[in-house]
Amino acid sequence: MNSSATHNHHSNQPKVKLVVIMGATGAGKSRLSIDLSAHLPRSQVINSDKMQLYNGLDITTNKISLDERKGVRHFLLGDFDSIGADVEPSEYRSTAAFVIAEIASRGDLPVVVGGSNSFIHALLVDTFDPEVDVFAAGSGSVSHVLRYDCCFIWVDVAWSVLRDYLCQRVDEMLDSGMLEELAQFYDPAKVGVLVGLRKAIGVAEFDKYFSKYPPWETAENGLVPQLGSDTARREAYEEAVRDIKDNTCRLAKRQIGKIMKLRAAGWDLTRIDATVAFRAVTAKKKEKKNNSESDSPDVWERKVVEPSVKIVKKFLEE
Ligand code: ATP
Repeated sequence: MNSSATHNHHSNQPKVKLVVIMGATGAGKSRLSIDLSAHLPRSQVINSDKMQLYNGLDITTNKISLDERKGVRHFLLGDFDSIGADVEPSEYRSTAAFVIAEIASRGDLPVVVGGSNSFIHALLVDTFDPEVDVFAAGSGSVSHVLRYDCCFIWVDVAWSVLRDYLCQRVDEMLDSGMLEELAQFYDPAKVGVLVGLRKAIGVAEFDKYFSKYPPWETAENGLVPQLGSDTARREAYEEAVRDIKDNTCRLAKRQIGKIMKLRAAGWDLTRIDATVAFRAVTAKKKEKKNNSESDSPDVWERKVVEPSVKIVKKFLEE
């Protein structure tokens, strides 16, 4: 970028410096943002995951827990009411811009983290037209003129490894209460209404199951049908889980496609390959050697965190 590009062309003010962590769902963006903050204590996170903006369904949407945040301040995480209309990209653009300005004015470092590339695009471009879907086939209209001075980190994981991990993660989410969360959220009057948080992967898939087997009728025998008990219910349950896994993989592929499009348009994304770190984790889980997991955080630190810290520090010195 030339020097004029690091100034806001609407004023002589230098552009605000911003770190943006991108990547497909499950690639480790949240984890990286927290690990980065250990090296950059002034960093504060602005969420850019469409579904995590809404209040509710914390397990289903994979919101980072308070514990996992390790004291790092998070903004636009669960702040929007899930009932009513979608948060539109232009609303995200103005709200996030306001938050970023506040963080920067305190001398802290804003770090945008999340998988919604249409929101990231809406937030960052200098001129945003809500009427144009820049990701639509053949639109060719992604602008590389940005209103912030951005350091982009793209956490990427080889597809076959990410796919395995995403399927494992769905099983883990179910183990940690996703079904119970969705059973509470279930409202027969709203089945088929796809707005706001209701668009989260898991809602429609389990609405279909709950429509046949309402949670209040099955709760006594457990929401999850046991193997060999009620075959039809078991099959419906398994179909919902399979659909969630398929839709999660589809989402990840679409996200990667959008990231490539931004890169092709000239966004200066640095790709950090987290495959080795992921392979270490998934392989170990498969082997169920949980006691030997101690070396995988080390691979993550060396292969993902350290290079990212280097890139961000250099960017901040420029
Ligand atoms: P699109 O134009 O497809 O909406 P986008 O970039 O605007 O893409 P994404 O954040 O990729 O927005 O989300 C697209 C869809 O993926 C959401 O509508 C939702 O179905 C699903 N999704 C995204 N994030 C999550 C999440 N955290 N939990 C569950 N589902 C999600």
